[in-house]
Amino acid sequence: MDKQLELLIMLHDLDLLLKEINNEKKAGFEVTEHKEELRKAKEKVIKGLEPTFLKRYEKLIDRYPRAVAPVIDGICYGCFVTLPTSFVVRKNKNEEVTICPYCGRFIYWFED
Ligand SMILES: [Zn+2]
Repeated sequence: MDKQLELLIMLHDLDLLLKEINNEKKAGFEVTEHKEELRKAKEKVIKGLEPTFLKRYEKLIDRYPRAVAPVIDGICYGCFVTLPTSFVVRKNKNEEVTICPYCGRFIYWFED
């Protein structure tokens, strides 16, 4: 898998975990310590990301709850639209960062 794609997926997961922690805090759990760990991990990931990808990611996460979506059976699970055949037949799909032509989210493929 492409390193940048890997970092994007990681950043996305960390953001979702941070969101989760914020919700738990509202529910009364003490999770501040882990929050700091997550923030540090996030910083590390951001450092490795190319600025253009980071900028796009930040725009997406502003607009949508999720900025990265899997593609399963040719369907983008961000917008649930079937991708053009040219996308689906490509080899080594996860070897580069791809953007859904319909919703603009970063996409990665679930491959057997
Ligand atoms: Zn999409």
